[in-house]
Amino acid sequence: METQMSYFQKHPDVTKSSFNTFMSKGQFKDVSIHASIFEARVTGSPNVELEVYSAPEQERMTFEHAVKQEFKPIENGHSFGPSWTTHWVRATLQIPSEFAGKEVRLLFNPSCESMVWSADGQPLQGLTGGDGNDRRHEFILTSKAGAKEAKRILYLEVACNGMFGVGDYIIGPPDPNRYFTLQPVELIVKRPKACALYHDLVVLSQIIDELSKDSPRWWQGLSTVDKVMTAYDATDENSLDACLAITSEFFKAKTGDAAHQVYAIGNCHIDTAWLWPYDETKRKIARSWSTQLGLIEKYPDYMFAASQAQQFEWLKEFYPGLFARVKEQIKEGRFIPIGGTWVEMDCNIPSGESFVRQFLLGQKFFEENFGERCKVFWLPDTFGYSSQLPQIMKLSGAEYFFTQKLSWNNINKFPHTTFRWVGLDGSDVLCHMCPAETYTAEAKANQLISSVKKHKDIGYTNESLYLYGFGDGGGGPSEEMLERLSRMKNVDALPKVKHAHPNEFYDYVSKNSKDLVTWNGELYFELHRGTYTSQAKTKKQNRQSEYLLRDVEMLSAIARSLGKDLVYPAAEITRLWKLVCLNQFHDVIPGSSIEMVYEDSDKIYADVLESARDMKENAIVALFGDSGMCATEQATGTLVFNSTSWPRTDVVAVPGMSQGLGAQQVRKQDQATLMVAASVPSGGVQIVSPVNDANVVPVSAYCDSNGHFVLENLYVTAKFNASGHLASFVDRRMERELIPKGRAGNVMRLHDDVPIFWDAWDIEINHLHKFSVMDASSITIIDEGPLLASIAIEIPVGKSSKMKQYVSLSAVSLRLDFDCDVDWHESHKCLKTAFTWDIRSKFATYETQYGVVQRPTHRNTTWDMAKFEVCAHKFGDLSEFGYGVALLNDSKYGYATLDSTMTITLLRSPKSPDTNCDMGHQSFRYAVYPHQGSFNESRVVQEAYQFNVPLVQLPVDMQVAAASELQGSSFFAVSDAPNVVLDMVKAAEDGSHDVIVRLYEAYGGHGKAVLTTKLAFGGVAKTNILEEQTESLDLKAAAGSGKDQSMVVNIKPFEVVTLRFKA
Ligand SMILES: [Zn+2]
Repeated sequence: METQMSYFQKHPDVTKSSFNTFMSKGQFKDVSIHASIFEARVTGSPNVELEVYSAPEQERMTFEHAVKQEFKPIENGHSFGPSWTTHWVRATLQIPSEFAGKEVRLLFNPSCESMVWSADGQPLQGLTGGDGNDRRHEFILTSKAGAKEAKRILYLEVACNGMFGVGDYIIGPPDPNRYFTLQPVELIVKRPKACALYHDLVVLSQIIDELSKDSPRWWQGLSTVDKVMTAYDATDENSLDACLAITSEFFKAKTGDAAHQVYAIGNCHIDTAWLWPYDETKRKIARSWSTQLGLIEKYPDYMFAASQAQQFEWLKEFYPGLFARVKEQIKEGRFIPIGGTWVEMDCNIPSGESFVRQFLLGQKFFEENFGERCKVFWLPDTFGYSSQLPQIMKLSGAEYFFTQKLSWNNINKFPHTTFRWVGLDGSDVLCHMCPAETYTAEAKANQLISSVKKHKDIGYTNESLYLYGFGDGGGGPSEEMLERLSRMKNVDALPKVKHAHPNEFYDYVSKNSKDLVTWNGELYFELHRGTYTSQAKTKKQNRQSEYLLRDVEMLSAIARSLGKDLVYPAAEITRLWKLVCLNQFHDVIPGSSIEMVYEDSDKIYADVLESARDMKENAIVALFGDSGMCATEQATGTLVFNSTSWPRTDVVAVPGMSQGLGAQQVRKQDQATLMVAASVPSGGVQIVSPVNDANVVPVSAYCDSNGHFVLENLYVTAKFNASGHLASFVDRRMERELIPKGRAGNVMRLHDDVPIFWDAWDIEINHLHKFSVMDASSITIIDEGPLLASIAIEIPVGKSSKMKQYVSLSAVSLRLDFDCDVDWHESHKCLKTAFTWDIRSKFATYETQYGVVQRPTHRNTTWDMAKFEVCAHKFGDLSEFGYGVALLNDSKYGYATLDSTMTITLLRSPKSPDTNCDMGHQSFRYAVYPHQGSFNESRVVQEAYQFNVPLVQLPVDMQVAAASELQGSSFFAVSDAPNVVLDMVKAAEDGSHDVIVRLYEAYGGHGKAVLTTKLAFGGVAKTNILEEQTESLDLKAAAGSGKDQSMVVNIKPFEVVTLRFKA
């Protein structure tokens, strides 16, 4: 035979282009590799017969219910819809006798998502319709068909949504009227050798694409494919053997000993809600995980990781059979539960206690169901990471942290891949951000090479994690990915790759890489800064839930410890915390989901708040029922309970006390009787009557000769000009004017808010350039003292919105409160309130979980500038030597400080993915709190707490109440350390009558706090946040205070201390 020499070296680009043609399904597909893939395929009767039952409305019914319905015949090309509806297809399949001995697959593509069910109701595998990259159309019916197969019946649950919902572009709001076309349903047989060659060639093409001509492997790769194209004959199956012999030569060359080691882990990121509602997620979990169980069976070294205890709990509840199969594979070490938290939560908005509950619920679930806690805290997709996470993680038994999201930063490149992350209190954990910069990698050569090239700490550690598998809407690795990975494990030109448990990677690095660098403090995400503000109501409901549950748990625990008649509602409290934690998912509370998700979350919060209010009421009745509690109309006073750990003095408003007997003032706004609750003991009780207020220096409201509206008490004078701006604010004790000349506070600014792409997510730096100042249309004096003075300011906002503010000052406080109601109808605008203070500081201080962080007030560097909008919890503070002012809030998280101006972003109006985001009525509160001394010497933390946690009040008959044994008592008090906050009192999780008390150091210094309690306990221990003892402590009789007991708590800067008081 004459041999024709190949001259490919003289025309490599032609060869490469020919190869691309050879691999494509385009015009030459009859002679390309694709011509060989299918050996046989049949469709239609008698091999494939289809019937459908369409469920009514958007009902997602069970298998058992669906199969009892009436099915009607359908053909290929059937249209399913509209969006969010479900259609059950019954497929009767007859494998032809000529398929005997072959693997036979069902090809089913309804152009949307679906689940394959067995005739006896077992969920078998998920399918992803459509022609996207993430498509999955095949289900293996049998690995070897018999000579005479009986008819088989399968059910296909067709869900009318794509992997990414039903928007017309990725974040487009859902189209309610989408229909999906059923592509021809076929029984197919593939040629195994053609498939194997195809996978070889795909890997070769990726290597050729990624390498350059200066690599010998590029030339060897090209030579290989050149030879394959020469040897291949689409009409001769035997040519496949020759081709496979050629490719195997290339794959024989191994990578070197010192090559980078990639630890590959399959995953399918399933957003617990995002472009679809929670109920669809439950099905996505079953679809994705059943698919992965199939791959685990097929590929013996494959490992798959899944996070979020909530998703496992849903599987357990709705798919018990599948859950049992998952559990089996967990035991085998192939299916890996990971993360340790209830959901992959947002890490900006949730409180410190919410963080604790995420881990407590998560780790407990993993331990109870799978016998093990998670060592890796797993947040591939969350929008920024609080500086308190390392401490909380460690206190829950998690030592390792994984993310990749900071690769999305839009200003600065994060400089590390593998490093020690040091938290606010000095705790450190091992952090890895996979250098492939994605959690949805597709087992591609270029991504593996990126794992080396983009590894920023490769001088210290030659390992990396690689997360592959379709994700966000679920899916996970495909057969193709696993085929490619099996070819790339050890081949020259690529790093070494192995399937591994993430723990194996972290344990190895932890043990072998001693020189890792550290990163101190928060992992601020330089993107998605609008998520501190979008979906205002959700954020407010979260804050309300967090503090209401605090009241419930504290009051219930105290009542039970006092032996009152109350069954501690442990199960209901757990149920509610699970719901609160669920809504903290990283697309729900940040505001980046579709409208349907917020309809769900509103219902969830309504449930949480209603049930929590009921439990609070029950606890109050149990605790104070015999202390003179009576109907409001009969009340002659009020009993207040102070849940904070310091004494406090407030003006309280008691609604409905019709007689207002002896009242110095009835508040006009709601006809509530005002009283001064003076020096209410910490964690304790006081009876308050209207007549106690005589010695209070009155507050007043008046209009001065300059036309300013003035609110004035013993401590401050606040003057508002006709625009509604705070034109002057004087601390009377120091005669200090806080507003610089010509500047103002409470300036409402309406900014253009047009991000680059991610609408609900991003507030971009250029929004700062363009704004108009909104002026008041009217100001009126409402209350004139003596206990409370207030004015009402009406402000037209933009073209169609308006705001009403009640600004009030009480006789007993320096705090100026702003209660706001907004009728909000803007588009791509955001509303801010701005305060300029006569204070100079390079840093502003913002509250974070269990502490504070400081961020620059200038834009020296790009790192400073990138923080043009930052997250704060209950306050932001601007202080210099000797003085400062804090801005407090009840539900706002987006702050910024430039020079001496601090702003709070109050509302945004993005249009995708929720067209109606934040439209309509919004209400929120903020406040100004001036203080002598710098932040560290202030009571800002306490004041912000009080602004969010009102005194618990109940109407009482004064005569009975005064005789109550509880009058003036203090259940918990913290003394000798003004920097220590008692944050939580709750029952122990283990069902014992032990009480858990959580404190934290709030300002950043050591403390030696004395914790005194009136409740009778047998001892006390320090625990981790899973409530396991770590240290025994002394509980002694408190000096000179009857039966009280006390203990000393030594606490370090920003430390979270959990104590377990033994019943
Ligand atoms: Zn996500």
